[in-house]
Amino acid sequence: MVFDYAIPEGMAVSPGCRVRVPLRRQSALGTVLSTGEPAQGDFAIREVESLVDPDPLVTPCLLRTGAWIADYYGCSIEAVVRALLPESVRTEDNSAKTRRVAVLAGEPDAATMARLEKRAPRQHALVLLLGGAAEGRLAVADLGDGSAAALKALEKAGIIRLETEEVRRDPDAGDTEPEEVESAPLELNPAQAAALERVIAAVADPAGSKPILLLGVTGSGKTEVYLQAARRALDLGRSVLVLVPEISLTPQTVRRFKARFASMRDQVAVLHSHLSQGERFDEWHRIRKGQARIVIGARSAVFAPLPDLGLILVDEEHENTYKQENPPRYHGRDVAVLRAAFEPCAVVLGSATPSLESWHNTMRGKYALVRLDERADGQSMPLVRVVDMRLESAKHKGGPAILSDPLRTALERRLERGEQSILFLNRRGFARSLQCPACGNVCQCPHCAVALTYHKTDERLVCHVCGYQAVVPRRCPECRDPAIILQGYGTQKVEEVLAKVLPQAKFARIDADAMRRKHALRDTLNAFKSHRIDILIGTQMIAKGLHFPNVTLVGILNADLGLHVPDFRAGERTFQLLTQVAGRAGRGDLSGEVIVQTFTPHSPSIQFARRHDFDGFSEQELEFRRQFGFPPFGHCAVLMARSNHERRAEFTLQNLHLRLKENLPDGLMLGEVLPAPLTRSHGQFRFQIVIRSAGARTLSRHVQSVLARTTLPEDVTVVFDMDALSFS
Ligand code: ADP
Ligand code: ZN
Repeated sequence: MVFDYAIPEGMAVSPGCRVRVPLRRQSALGTVLSTGEPAQGDFAIREVESLVDPDPLVTPCLLRTGAWIADYYGCSIEAVVRALLPESVRTEDNSAKTRRVAVLAGEPDAATMARLEKRAPRQHALVLLLGGAAEGRLAVADLGDGSAAALKALEKAGIIRLETEEVRRDPDAGDTEPEEVESAPLELNPAQAAALERVIAAVADPAGSKPILLLGVTGSGKTEVYLQAARRALDLGRSVLVLVPEISLTPQTVRRFKARFASMRDQVAVLHSHLSQGERFDEWHRIRKGQARIVIGARSAVFAPLPDLGLILVDEEHENTYKQENPPRYHGRDVAVLRAAFEPCAVVLGSATPSLESWHNTMRGKYALVRLDERADGQSMPLVRVVDMRLESAKHKGGPAILSDPLRTALERRLERGEQSILFLNRRGFARSLQCPACGNVCQCPHCAVALTYHKTDERLVCHVCGYQAVVPRRCPECRDPAIILQGYGTQKVEEVLAKVLPQAKFARIDADAMRRKHALRDTLNAFKSHRIDILIGTQMIAKGLHFPNVTLVGILNADLGLHVPDFRAGERTFQLLTQVAGRAGRGDLSGEVIVQTFTPHSPSIQFARRHDFDGFSEQELEFRRQFGFPPFGHCAVLMARSNHERRAEFTLQNLHLRLKENLPDGLMLGEVLPAPLTRSHGQFRFQIVIRSAGARTLSRHVQSVLARTTLPEDVTVVFDMDALSFS
């Protein structure tokens, strides 16, 4: 909640400080958002009790970023403050862990030592112990029980000092990973060197530079550019923020940073999501005090309070995980760009498959484009073969094949040669689309060109963007074949098939189910790395940043799964996924091969990915987006209502729909109230409206003003997701 308080005479309160204030009959801790004239009204304003932080905890730049987030994403400022300050930091007055230490006051002279030896052997032993310790300093707790009296006496005699010192809870303590050996910088190739110079120029003159989109094919050496840019920024006295899609899924990137900066290990902070409250508190304060000069973290690290920030690196900027799925529903990459403008500092967005939003921004001249078009180690891009599953299915009686003949042969050959393979099955959504196994045709909405979703209850096909409905066809509308089917099988099914056709292979599965156990992911990846596993089967969890030199084959089992979901980004996602997964092959000295199984071999996403052609893909995908008014041409948001009561959720949203329709701003396209593709989740019924608009603010403010004027029933939750990436 936001409240007004008066500042007592002489108290130096500024925005970003925490204060103790009276709240009802209690005293509460609050964060100052702004100072100035109070809102008008005939209520009494109470006074701030005390100032907790003399210096603001939140920098003006981050407060400004926070205010922008609240306005743009239509969320409360409290939600934003919760994102800006970790809970442990917000609620603790002073929770830094401290310990008592004994410090030798100086080299004791021989006479003193002789006297102690004779009269006070315990004190003598303690002095010897301290004399042997680094800096003559040891924790009291480590000096053994019953030394309290002896220490007191030594302190009184001026031989030692007893002090209180802060201890850092080292999140790496107890880490089983071996300590990283410092890695030397590689000699950059000309393209990398040019990229590095562009980044350094931006660090030196952030106000005069644009955000940089670093488009580098998989294996082009982007990470090496990040590492050297980070080093140069540090040399310039600036700090560095590295954002990765997810720490646990990008262990190799994190390890490379740790290795490169091993000699300054204490100044590197990795913000894992599994940090304890205390560790988070310590790391946050360490960063704020400028003790950690490089911070690596996922989305929420974008708020890390680094002083002298010189460079923000956003790795794999196209990843969906940068979007926060609960309030504040910000996009980490977009907030990074904004923060960089406010700081100001340089910002680099790197990807082999940039989001069309970022790509469009380079076309419009808002971002600068820097490219790395070749693999850094001189390897060629992997060869991609597309297998037409329509033909394979015709060969196999009794349902569509899971492993095509070419893929099975390729796997066998890898086993014979002692090389490894990855089989990739992107998670099927909950939404089911209809596809003809004979011709590959998928039923689509004539207005939105997204796949229609099959609803079993009333045997209908529905477009989840505009609401168009159709009856389920008996035969394929294209080729008249009656065998039209619902797509889908899972990774477990793949395991079964493999066990049957390749009984000699050792394989393991990586997906959300198999990875529930702690460290399961790390253990499986280690087993794969040391070649105790021949074939790794996985979902998109394995599409990111992995680097296994012995992997020479990547099989994509059903490229169509991600393609025919009710989402206009389906083509983009499929292209990204295929390109990233293909990039896992042939990263060592052996060249790689990728086999893509699909019922729609001519789909542009698949064909452009086969040729590693981002330019070709983006050109035709942008044309489609422009034609249907989808982002990056304008913005797209989802307004969702959830409730245990189906009617109540639907009715609430219909009511909101009516109000949104009144005074509808120009250019706002309001969709219909529809069941969400994932109609029921956690026992709740879900309905949604898709809203599109050319301008983001028009959309966000219109929805916010309607929500502010509407009282919602208690048992209905309404969620507004600006720039939504998920339509399910
Ligand atoms: P990306 O991040 O673009 O996927 P990486 O930085 O992982 O690419 O580089 C791919 C491989 O090429 C790595 O094994 C890396 O060590 C190597 N590499 C990068 N830059 C160079 C270079 N300048 N000379 C030789 N090898 C390089
Ligand atoms: Zn439609």
